[in-house]
Amino acid sequence: MTEKQTLPKVKEKNIPRKIAYFSMEIAANFSIPTYSGGLGILAGDTIKSFADLKVPAVAVTLLYKKGLFYQKLDNEGSQEELPVEWDPEKCLRLLPQKVTVQIENKPVVIRAWQYDVSGVTEYCVPIIFLDSDLKENSEYHRGLTDHLYGGDERYRLAQEIILGIGGVRMLNELGYPDIKKYHMNEGHSSLLTLELLKNTRDQNEQEIRKEKDQITDYDYDYDAVRNLCVFTTHTPVAAGHDSFPYDLVEDVLGDFVPLNVLKMCAGENRLNMTLLALNLSKYTNGVAKKHGEVSRKMFPGYTIGAITNGVHSHTWTSESFRKLYDQHIPGWEKDNFILRHASRIPKHEIWEAHIEAKKKLIDYVNENNGTKFDPGVFTIGFARRVTGYKRFDFIFSDIYRLLNIARNVGKIQIVFAGKAHFRDGHGRDMIKKMFDHFQQVKPNIKAVFLENYDAELGKLLTSGVDLWLNTPQKPNEASGTSGMKAAHNGVPSLSTLDGWWIEGFIDGVTGWAIESDAGTIQDEALDMYNKLEYIIIPMFYKDREKWINIMQQSISVNASYFNTQRMVQEYILDAYFC
Ligand SMILES: *Cc1c(COP(=O)(O)O)cnc(C)c1O
Repeated sequence: MTEKQTLPKVKEKNIPRKIAYFSMEIAANFSIPTYSGGLGILAGDTIKSFADLKVPAVAVTLLYKKGLFYQKLDNEGSQEELPVEWDPEKCLRLLPQKVTVQIENKPVVIRAWQYDVSGVTEYCVPIIFLDSDLKENSEYHRGLTDHLYGGDERYRLAQEIILGIGGVRMLNELGYPDIKKYHMNEGHSSLLTLELLKNTRDQNEQEIRKEKDQITDYDYDYDAVRNLCVFTTHTPVAAGHDSFPYDLVEDVLGDFVPLNVLKMCAGENRLNMTLLALNLSKYTNGVAKKHGEVSRKMFPGYTIGAITNGVHSHTWTSESFRKLYDQHIPGWEKDNFILRHASRIPKHEIWEAHIEAKKKLIDYVNENNGTKFDPGVFTIGFARRVTGYKRFDFIFSDIYRLLNIARNVGKIQIVFAGKAHFRDGHGRDMIKKMFDHFQQVKPNIKAVFLENYDAELGKLLTSGVDLWLNTPQKPNEASGTSGMKAAHNGVPSLSTLDGWWIEGFIDGVTGWAIESDAGTIQDEALDMYNKLEYIIIPMFYKDREKWINIMQQSISVNASYFNTQRMVQEYILDAYFC
């Protein structure tokens, strides 16, 4: 008789990585400040879902030892940027490998740090953080991976060389020989296509040499590169697409590939990172259905699909709702589609979980601002990057009307947060303007602007308010994700019909839309006030049952769909297998 044999277990660690995910910013976790906003949060959530779904991926970004900045606001709303302190050695693992890229005709040595992301399973997806702070490099080159979105055009281009070209080289050096797709999360990393293109020529050269013992022809293999590349574009605003003048490119990148090849791929007049990625990717997508449409109009002649963004369900669900889901719809964090059964959760328990999250926010607000916000009062939340099209002051379009609603229909309190880019004068002025508005509505409406909007605060806000307000000017919002975080906590949205909300909105079921037949700002504002006065605030105060119904539907209709699990599954089918 022979002894019974058992098959050895599959060692997940040794599964070769097939997807390389490149992003200028990644919010790996809440305490690593190497992200600025939506793009980085999305990247972090995507990687967590890769891990949940055991997608054999590896991610690449830059280290940013000095992060973005800590936002301090004085009594008048003037923004001050304080340095961020964080210690990579405490959170990341330094790897022994080094690679070199040429910047301004000099070799720049790059090293790498690793952070392993796991979601709700044991499976890990490594993030590789590239770092140029090595004594081999000049002082200027050592600082290239210090600041996220800091510095001038030259600094940015050098960073993108490190990310794109250095990133591909580092993956080879680290022993990822089997990458089948390079996914560029926005155009910042699209120089990676040039490194891949160069590699195809070097390979051709070698083969030809072997055959004929001489170099006769070494064409680049564009199709081979296209087969390797996937590109996600993120902004419908033209200025949001990185581009560089060719004299600067020649200065910083040198003659990496011949100028005529570069111009053919990246545009005649400037090196446009979006065009470069579009021309050398087999699959390109926008981040919501509408954004796909807008992108196709912006770049006629290209096939551009749409994969609507999501958020990582477990990450963005507050403690009290996690407990509730665990109890009534177990398995939700591994299989987010289960959230569709949120209607099974008893209404009073939904309300109690919400009040717990709301109290947490109100306590934070009162502690940090010396205010007396009241957990019993209808609370509106609004937080995002402070930039023109997001229209921070939209709710104050007609202060008289707003005050009347608060006096006659029901009390209102409003919580704002958001950073302005330090060079964005309009953004900085907008924050000050908001502080003026707060004075105008005092004491009938309490409003605050919380300092230093980051992921941690984002979670506190999206789970702790009663209504999530979003007023982007159409069609500038590519997707938006904060409303999806709110939905995971049973918080409905009131939003202009742009980005993801076009897909997530069901009138009076998942929230409300700010609509306008005339298409004017006045008309839109009028609609917002009408919805608040006649539908939303009366329902909140007088028909709690109906309100909680909407909370439940926000979860079952929207959280079950607008998550990165569904999103990553779409990427696998549409983008990685194409
Ligand atoms: C979720 C999040 C964003 C992106 O949300 P939008 O709806 O796209 O504005 C930006 N910043 C932080 C800190 C976030 O948590």
